Amino acid sequence: MDHPNQGQTSQRKRGRFAPSPTGDMHFGSLYTAVASYLDSTSQGGEWVVRVENLDPPRIVAGSLQNILTALDVHGLQTTEPRVSQSQRLHLYDAALESLQMAGKLFYCTCTRKSLAALDGGYPGTCRTRRDPPEQGHAVRFRLDVDRAFTFTDQVQGRQEYAPGSLSDFIVKRRDGLHAYHLAVVVDDALQQVNSIVRGADLLDSTPLHILLQQALGYPTPEYLHLPVLTRNGQKLSKQHGAPPISLQRPVENLARALELLGQPVPQGGRPNDPAGLLAIAAGNWQRHLLPRETSIELTCS
Ligand code: GLU
Ligand code: ZN
Repeated sequence: MDHPNQGQTSQRKRGRFAPSPTGDMHFGSLYTAVASYLDSTSQGGEWVVRVENLDPPRIVAGSLQNILTALDVHGLQTTEPRVSQSQRLHLYDAALESLQMAGKLFYCTCTRKSLAALDGGYPGTCRTRRDPPEQGHAVRFRLDVDRAFTFTDQVQGRQEYAPGSLSDFIVKRRDGLHAYHLAVVVDDALQQVNSIVRGADLLDSTPLHILLQQALGYPTPEYLHLPVLTRNGQKLSKQHGAPPISLQRPVENLARALELLGQPVPQGGRPNDPAGLLAIAAGNWQRHLLPRETSIELTCS
């Protein structure tokens, strides 16, 4: 019998960075971008950027330009033009349509308040509602998982979700916006991304993504979840006010990212241009050196 990964090994690696323009680029995003970039390009693969701008109220003016400039200043070149989710709504609608035809969706009128006591789980209240109600509603994807669900992450190892721990989730929100879980799955598949490197805060979203891929007939990419960087126990994030990275010190920023990624950092004759440093880092890249925690607390600035 063929080795189950045989098909993948001959495939060119195709990674992506999927920033949300909800604030300026901070160090946690740079570190994720560097890992994804090097993991793909070290093997002659491709690397694409997708702007995740589905949620207009959360967009911060000027932040997309800041993120793109930061990628550029750090030598993180894409292999093709970037795409923006706001231009792809028809693709998400088409996926919803196909899920609908397969009987995988239902209309949910539960409010956040009515579900608040349930700790994020969904008890299946509206599962049988197949026709859109008059009142406000979200659209949920119906999970039919009665066994434990497992997948293997390239860094975090085997992940197991007990029966009943995953629940029907929203694919189209009550306010009419397409949900992240839907868009990310559609985009990764249509962009032919086969290797996803991102923060471990998204580890528990991965079973949902895999189940959606299966329902849509998409292949499942490999997943590699990096430890999230924290300060004072909180993820470095735009929401928690992580400071923007300095665009004046790209080589230092890259060196610090490599160090946190457990990779050798060229010393002494370190090139003073970011692209040169990235080229050396790509030559040295070794997945097995990546840290395996789910978070790393940063001690100094
Ligand atoms: N847009 C998400 C973020 O900025 C990343 C989603 C993903 O990598 O799947 O956190
Ligand atoms: Zn409901």
